[in-house]
Amino acid sequence: MNLSSSKNRSNLIHALTSTDFDLIVIGGGITGAGIALDAASRGLKVALLEKKDFASGTSSKSTKLIHGGLRYLKQLEIGLVRETGTERATVHRLAPHLVVPEKMLLPLVEKGTYGKLGTSIGLAVYDFLAEVNSADRRKMLSREDTLAKEPLLKKDGVLGGGFYAEYRTDDARLTIEVIKKAIEFGANCINYAEVYDFSYDESGKISGVIANDLIDQQVLNINAAFVVNATGPWVDQLRKQDKSLKGKRLFLSKGVHIVVPYERLPLKQSVYFDVPDGRMVFAIPRHRTTYIGTTDTPYEQSIDQVLTQQEDVNYLLQAANSMFPDVHLSNEDVESSWAGLRPLIYEEGKSASQMSRKDEIFESESGLISIAGGKLTGYRKMAERIVNLVVKKHPKKEGFKPCYTNKIPLAGGHFKTSKDVADYKVEIEKKVVSRQLAEYYAIYLVSNYGKQTDEILEKMNDFEGNSEEKLIRAELWFTLQHEMVHTPLDFFNRRTGRVYFNLPSILRLSSVVLQDIQAYFNWSDEKAKSEEEHLQIELQEVSEFDFAMR
Ligand code: FAD
Repeated sequence: MNLSSSKNRSNLIHALTSTDFDLIVIGGGITGAGIALDAASRGLKVALLEKKDFASGTSSKSTKLIHGGLRYLKQLEIGLVRETGTERATVHRLAPHLVVPEKMLLPLVEKGTYGKLGTSIGLAVYDFLAEVNSADRRKMLSREDTLAKEPLLKKDGVLGGGFYAEYRTDDARLTIEVIKKAIEFGANCINYAEVYDFSYDESGKISGVIANDLIDQQVLNINAAFVVNATGPWVDQLRKQDKSLKGKRLFLSKGVHIVVPYERLPLKQSVYFDVPDGRMVFAIPRHRTTYIGTTDTPYEQSIDQVLTQQEDVNYLLQAANSMFPDVHLSNEDVESSWAGLRPLIYEEGKSASQMSRKDEIFESESGLISIAGGKLTGYRKMAERIVNLVVKKHPKKEGFKPCYTNKIPLAGGHFKTSKDVADYKVEIEKKVVSRQLAEYYAIYLVSNYGKQTDEILEKMNDFEGNSEEKLIRAELWFTLQHEMVHTPLDFFNRRTGRVYFNLPSILRLSSVVLQDIQAYFNWSDEKAKSEEEHLQIELQEVSEFDFAMR
C-alpha cells in the first residue's frame, strides 16, 4: 500500500488508530521528519502527525542554507559549528541534487563585523571544523579580486574579501524527502492532523495523543510508548497542554526574506554582507531569482500567521541597496517573500541575534520529550540524540539498530558526486528543450526532484495542454501520488517552491492545477472555490505588504 499517496488517507488513519506505536512524533517540520526517519530505520514503530502541511512551519521559511553558521564561530559556539559543519558534507552526500555546493563571498568593509586577520583565521577554523576538502578551502581576496568577483559591490570601503564554501538547499523539499523516506521504512506520517491533547495511563505517564483529522473532521486516538514534541515554535503550547511548561522557555524571533527577479540583482555568487545597523544579511542567487534575508526581530503575535510587513521589506531593500548601490531595488522589484519564526531558547539579557541556535531537549514528569532550538542543517544529529534517548528508555532497547541515517540516500538522490548531478542536468536540459519548455526548467526539476524528474517528464505524455501545462499537471500528479498533497497551496508552496521562486508561473497555471486537483479529490465547486481563495490570499500575503500591515 502506498501510504505517501494523497488518496490513501483512510488506510493511513486506520493504521494510526489501530497500532500500538513505539513512538509518536508531533510536528512535520525537518526536526520531526528527521526523528521519524531515524526511529523507523532503526526498527521502531513510528507515527508522525502534522497539523497543517509538512514543512509549513519554520522548515519552509529558512535562509535555505546547509551551513556551519560562520557567525556562531564569532559567538564561540565551537561545538555547534563543528557539528553543523560536518553535517553539511553528510547531507550533501545523501541528496546531492538538493543540497548543492554554493560559494559564498564575504566582503570585508571598513568598520564591518569581520576584520581581515580575524576572517582569515575564522574561515580557516570553519573549514577545519567542517572538514572541508583542500580544493574548497577558503581563499582570502584582495580588494581588487573581491570587486572582480562581484562587480555589483559598492566600491567605497571594501577592503578585501573571504571566499568560502557553503551549501544551498530547499528546506521544504528536504523535509518532504525525509518524510517520504521515513514512510518507506514503515513510519505512518500524516498531515492535516492536529494534536490537541495527550492521553495518560493510571500513573500519569503519557500513553498517546488525541488529534483532530482536519480533512475528514474526526477525532483520532493514537497510542504509543513515547511521545516526542517536535513542533518548533509551537513547542511551548504543547508543553503547556501537558502542564509541564516550567524552567526554560522559547523565545520567538521573526526572520523575513524577500525575492527579486535575478536580473534585478544579478549576483555572480552568494554574498554575506554587513548592513548599516551592524547585522549581516545574505543575498543568494537562485535560478530565475535572487533572495535577500534575513531580519531578526522579537515576535509576540500569532504563531499561526506570520506575515512579511512593509518595514521588513524596507529594511532588506535598504540593506541590499547599501551594499549594491547601483541596483536601486524598490518595492516594485519584490516578487515574493517569506516570514518565519526561529524557535530560540530564551537567554536573559541577550538580543535575538545573540541567543544560541543550539537545540535542547526537555523531559516532563509525564514523559513528554520536547526538542527545541537547533538548525535545519543539524536535523540528522538532533534526531539521533532524540531516538537514542527513546531507545535507552524502551524495554526492547536491544532490539533496535544503532543510527545509520548517514547511509540512507534520499529519494531522487542516487548520485555519487556533484558532477553526476551536473551530467544528469545536461541530459534533462535536452529533454526539456525537446518538449518546448524553457531551459530553466531543467535546473528547477533536477534540484527539486533529482532522478524522480524522469518519472515526471514521462508522465507529461498523458496530459493535454501546452508544454508548461503538461509539465505542471505531471508534477501535480507526481506529488499527489507520492507526496501527500491536499491543497493547491501544498503543491505551489512546499512541493514546488513556486510561491517564492516562480510566482508568475502560478498566475499562468493555477487554473489547470485547480481543475486537476478538484477532479482528483472529487471536490464540489464550493470547496474548489474556497481552495482557490486560500491560494489567492497566500499570494497576496507574500507579495503585497500594505495588505499584510492590516
Ligand atoms: P517547524 O518547521 O516549525 O516544524 C514544526 C511543525 O509542527 C510545524 O509544521 C507545525 O505546523 C507543527 N505543529 C505545531 N503544533 C502542532 C500540533 N499541535 N499538532 C501537530 N503538528 C503541530 N537553519 C539552517 O540550518 N540554515 C539556515 O539557513 C537557516 N535559516 C533560517 C532563517 C530563518 C529566518 C529562520 C526562522 C530559521 C532558520 N534556520 C536555518 C533554522 C531552521 O529553519 C529551523 O531550525 C528548523 O526549520 C526548525 O524545524 P522544526 O521542525 O523544529 O520546526
